[in-house]
Amino acid sequence: MALKELQVMVVEDHGFQRRIAVRLLAELGVDKVLEGADGLHALEVLRQQAAPPDVVLVDLDMPGMDGIECIGHIAQERLARAVVVVSALDPALLNTVQTMARAYGLRVLGSVEKPLTRDKLEAALNRFDQHSGEEPDDAVAEFGVEALTEALRNGEITAWFQPQVEFANGKVIGVEALARWERADGSLVRPNHFVPMMEREGLANALTDRMLDEACKWKQRWDHGGHRLKLSVNVSAMALADPSAADRYQAIVESHDIEPEEVILEITESSVMSDAARGLGLLARLRLKGFGLSIDDFGTGYSSLAQLAQIPFTELKIDQGFVFGAHAQPRKRAVVEASLDLARKLGLTTVAEGVESIEDWQMLAELGCDIAQGYLIGRPVPGSELQAVMNRWRRPVH
Ligand code: C2E
Ligand code: CA
Ligand code: CA
Repeated sequence: MALKELQVMVVEDHGFQRRIAVRLLAELGVDKVLEGADGLHALEVLRQQAAPPDVVLVDLDMPGMDGIECIGHIAQERLARAVVVVSALDPALLNTVQTMARAYGLRVLGSVEKPLTRDKLEAALNRFDQHSGEEPDDAVAEFGVEALTEALRNGEITAWFQPQVEFANGKVIGVEALARWERADGSLVRPNHFVPMMEREGLANALTDRMLDEACKWKQRWDHGGHRLKLSVNVSAMALADPSAADRYQAIVESHDIEPEEVILEITESSVMSDAARGLGLLARLRLKGFGLSIDDFGTGYSSLAQLAQIPFTELKIDQGFVFGAHAQPRKRAVVEASLDLARKLGLTTVAEGVESIEDWQMLAELGCDIAQGYLIGRPVPGSELQAVMNRWRRPVH
């Protein structure tokens, strides 16, 4: 969708700043613009619309109802398809807003620091389109637990793959398996829309097993084709409480003649920290069996050095909220630098996810990050298309 086709709302209490935003939008060709003078007014206007606008720009710091509360209402009542937060929000806080919005199927395209400029606005709005190719037609697909169970059973939940490359030489050395629900009607549902329900309904372990199994099948094919790739698979927090998980994962990889050393299990920082004691046993056993262990979404879970050092991780993945745009945002860059420093001290491999621009790539390369993952290199694709993505990829010259 071209920018000029977007319908956008500006929620900003400061009249002058609101007018600037509207003018910048006009310069970008966006002329379907709604205005909200504060949170409450914005909600009133939104509730009167026949169809929700595509993007709402929300200033966080407003008198009366603040931006976070306003986004909460927009999400719950599905009053818009996506929001952009206008504020110099730190990524951990942005992550909180994102998690809240996501639970209701609202997309957060990112945050923009004031003062608003045409370039910043354009970059944020362009993200609306970048994702839409992978979104289901209907942003929030309606389904119940029976449909999900059935989807798991009949193979509609499949693994897509996103390449990971070494900064040092640009070589593709691994892939992350990401769940996709390919529905019978041809629509595609992203994991944020169904993984939380699976976790609530006790289907998370079945999902991990299925993803691991399918990913191993693909890995075997790539290995036979002469391209040895490491495999990263996401593991739900639920698994940490499942004593049989370690033996099951071992059995699955071995049934495909794959060594656990070539498989990295990703666990989010927040899930490990919420149940550190219980999870430790499983994590230790997985390490003993040879699996790699990656701490995912690092930077959003507030773990302490003492906690981290206790857990036998082999890899640290810096959350994309800190990576995206880090070259131009000193606060993000500081978090990236500190994370790399910590990882180095603990002897962990470092992965930056959300690498979308050459500028961020270059900064991360200079800071000594090991591995990159992100749209700059390639988007997640079905296994059958991975080779094509790898062929297309060219490392940026330093
Ligand atoms: P994640 O593990 O942090 O995975 C990375 C997400 O970032 C993926 O979204 C990927 O498509 C997206 N991404 C990759 N590169 C870029 C980039 O350059 N820019 C941007 N903006 N995004 C990028 P996806 O596939 O929608 O997955 C979302 C989340 O769902 C995952 O986040 C993970 O937490 C969860 N998930 C995915 N597959 C599984 C699974 O099999 N099991 C479990 N438990 N969770 C899964
Ligand atoms: Ca992951
Ligand atoms: Ca992540």
